Order: sequence, then structure tokens, then C-alpha cells
Amino acid sequence: MKAENYSQTDFNINTKGKGLVLVLATVSLIIMMVLTTLLWWFISPRLHEISDVLATLSLTALRIFYLVLTMGMLLVYLTCYLGRNFLIAHFAVRSFITVLFPISVFFGKIVGISEERLRTSFVHVNNAFLQSIRKRYPADRILILLPHCLQHTSCKIRITIDIHLCARCGRCDISRLVDIADKYHAKIAIATGGTLARRIVLKYRPKMIIAVACQRDLVDGLRDVFPIPVYGVLNDRPEGPCINTRVATEKIEYALQALSIHEST
Ligand code: SF4
Repeated sequence: MKAENYSQTDFNINTKGKGLVLVLATVSLIIMMVLTTLLWWFISPRLHEISDVLATLSLTALRIFYLVLTMGMLLVYLTCYLGRNFLIAHFAVRSFITVLFPISVFFGKIVGISEERLRTSFVHVNNAFLQSIRKRYPADRILILLPHCLQHTSCKIRITIDIHLCARCGRCDISRLVDIADKYHAKIAIATGGTLARRIVLKYRPKMIIAVACQRDLVDGLRDVFPIPVYGVLNDRPEGPCINTRVATEKIEYALQALSIHEST
């Protein structure tokens, strides 16, 4: 399918699974509030014995902590479902990544929801945030960041040094992705790990990143490059993890069309 045939709905594909992690984060937040309130109630007589001020301060700190998390959670819902760009939405995402997501993973494991499903859902939440910003970026300030496992294992060309060394044989998706990047004058690079990915980001200083990776690397990458906005595209693994992975290249081209202010050539 050609990118010209895509609609906004196609771009929305990666935001549709956001409900799972949001619901689990909300439930986790409520459970945390109940547990810590019970704990405080249990130890409060002892705290009062030590110092009334200590007891009051600890209760106030607990209330402020949960007030901030609840407000952040509300902002996440409003941003994801109403598509409104709130000024402090970035803060909400940050608190979500650092506090609520790890707790959601913990509670998810208890009820049998895999970390991979939650990470997938989290990528969709992230993409919903990106859409809510409703911003376009100069194409040459957009970086397409790819994992090394997209390169076919039989290929001996060292495309990590320069992805344009790709001979465009078509055995893997690198060929098509380089063509797409060149068409829109976007930057494109391949990273063998988190350290190299960070170095690439420092080198190109992009205003926005289109990142292809597995669930784990994408969520870690989102955390690493914050506050640079990232559109996350999960790769397909027909031969298992980390080997000859594939990606729907049409999604990358549609994202470039939807997010860049550069006219395609
Ligand atoms: S498309 Fe490029 S990277 Fe992929 S196998 Fe062919 S030459 Fe190697």
C-alpha cells in the first residue's frame, strides 16, 4: 500500500492499545493509595508518640504525593482521549514513566499481564501524546532511528557506520527506509544499543524522533531521550527476537508525512 493511500486512522494504529496500561496504572494508583494509607494509619500512633509534627508532616507529604500523581493521571487521560495539548502534559508523561509505569508492571505481573503487553500499550500511550501535540517539525530535524536487527543477517555491509552504504538489495527493510528518509530529507541512523543510540541523538540533535524497536528498547529509549518527542513503531519478529526483524515501512512514511513540514519531492 502506498503512503498516499493512508489516512489519519492508519497513523492512529499505534495508539489503539493504550487502554490496558492506563487502566492498570489507575488500579495500581488506587491500590497504592489504599495500602499506604492503611500503613500510615497503622504506624501513626507510634509517629505521634515520637512527634506530632513528624506525624503531620508525613501525612501531608503522602497527600501531596498522591495529589500530584492523581492530577498527572487525569492529564494523561485527558491528553490521550481528548487529544488536548496541556502545557504540563510533559510533566504528566514524566511522572507516568518514572512512577506509575514500573508499579503497573509490578501489579500486571501479579494478575498475569505480561510486561511485553504493557510496554506495547505504553508505546501507544506515548504515540497518543505525540498526536496531541499537533506539531510539525522540519523534516531535516526528524531522526529515524532503527535497531541493528533490521539488517539481514546475511548482509556484511557495515551500515552502522553509514546506513547509506546499504546496497539496496531489498533483502531487508533498510533499503526502503533509506529511500523514504532521502525522499523527505530526514536523518536516518542505525543503533546497535542504547549507548550508540544516545550518541546518535547527541550528534543529530533532532527535534523529533521516529524510533523503530522492540517493546523493551522503545520504552527505555523514550525514557532516555525525554523530552524529545518520539513516535514509536514496534518491529515485527517473524524469526524471533533480535534477528531479521521487519517493520511496516508505510507507517514510517505516513509518520513523516503527518509530522514533517517538508514538502515531499
Ligand atoms: S537492503 Fe541493504 S542492509 Fe539490507 S541486506 Fe540489502 S544491502 Fe544489506
